[in-house]
Amino acid sequence: MAFSIIDNQLVIANKELSYSVSDICKNQEEPFYLYDLDGIESRFDYFAKGLKKASQDLRVHYAMKANSHPLILQKLKSLGAHVDVVSLGEVKLAMENHFLASDIIFSGVGKSVKEITECLKLGIYQINVESLPELERIAQISKKLGVVAPIGIRFNPDVNPETHPYITTGFRENKFGLDFSDAGKIDLVVSDYKDQLNLQGMSIHIGSQIKDTQSFADAIEKTINVYKTLEQNPLWNLQSLDIGGGLGINYNTIDETTDLSLIDEYCALVKAKTQNFPGTLICEPGRVLVARFGALLGRVEYIKNNNYKNFAILNTGMHHLMRPCLYSATHNIVPVIENTDGKDVLYDVVGPICESSDVLGSDRLLKELKQDDWLAILDAGAYGAVMASNYNQHEMMGEFVVSSNQVHKVN
Ligand SMILES: *Cc1c(COP(=O)(O)O)cnc(C)c1O
Repeated sequence: MAFSIIDNQLVIANKELSYSVSDICKNQEEPFYLYDLDGIESRFDYFAKGLKKASQDLRVHYAMKANSHPLILQKLKSLGAHVDVVSLGEVKLAMENHFLASDIIFSGVGKSVKEITECLKLGIYQINVESLPELERIAQISKKLGVVAPIGIRFNPDVNPETHPYITTGFRENKFGLDFSDAGKIDLVVSDYKDQLNLQGMSIHIGSQIKDTQSFADAIEKTINVYKTLEQNPLWNLQSLDIGGGLGINYNTIDETTDLSLIDEYCALVKAKTQNFPGTLICEPGRVLVARFGALLGRVEYIKNNNYKNFAILNTGMHHLMRPCLYSATHNIVPVIENTDGKDVLYDVVGPICESSDVLGSDRLLKELKQDDWLAILDAGAYGAVMASNYNQHEMMGEFVVSSNQVHKVN
């Protein structure tokens, strides 16, 4: 399913349809991302159905920073998703693509006066607050506007999941969230601004690309315990628990069905840990919904041998996909059409950028490549295009979406 290799060719296969990626490549010169919208649809349905078993009163807020392509946003909205945003730019983009203000949770440690003001005016669903000064700022702006701010307090449950250090967020030394021990200080702010702040939710988000589900279990357990205490506190008006996002995928295999067992495990532990939870259960998945269903396509400009290594130099690189250089992430790289008669050659697959870190994959054993062959960097649907730049003044890549065997281009 999704991106697969059939008869040595890369295809997008969903339900009974199969679409050959080479059909798009043959009309292209420049690099592009390709997304499989049907794959995202079935992934969302699988995830939401699984978590519904934990709570009927469930809100799935897609973390759109993972991939904010307009057609993906529209599709997820049509499937019943809400959205988690981290900037006013994302608020605007979400609303241009059919989400309502009441769908929006606003997260992030650095919300500006302008962002808070606009969100309060729009009447978004919830602002997840990450610090005391932010809470005070929101209270003051609410007072000026004469509104009540719907607040979720993001706590840092102090768990340290095994993932890349740049993407853990729920350890006590990270910049994210408030300590449980800060609850008393939150009370002090709220008692000054009772008519402005509605403390309706608690939230956590412990990091990204987490496959060690025990960390989620620990974090939810700690948080629910505190929830039970704060529920009794008259200054709070708790209605919901937001368990964040962060579930990973198996980048080491292209078989997307391996993600499903991880989702099953996650849903089962959420169910176990939230048993008898009386409020609304909120989650904020990003990567797990979209990572599998995007590939970055690049064309070989040169094959170079420098006596030590073979390089496949592509027309795409770290400017279009940062994950390998930013997080030492590994993505599978496959030819769009494999040269089955070729010999096996070990390549470093690199880009055109003037940085030695511009490596998409090192020491990859591939059938011998030649100029103008297309390669696909797989599992690039999350934190790919959204982080792209035109560093070195290269052009941005294109983005195509395949849906029901039709190809769409937006941007
Ligand atoms: C990034 C982020 C998410 C999504 O994380 P994934 O690892 O993509 O699931 C969810 N919530 C918040 C607050 C985030 O910052």
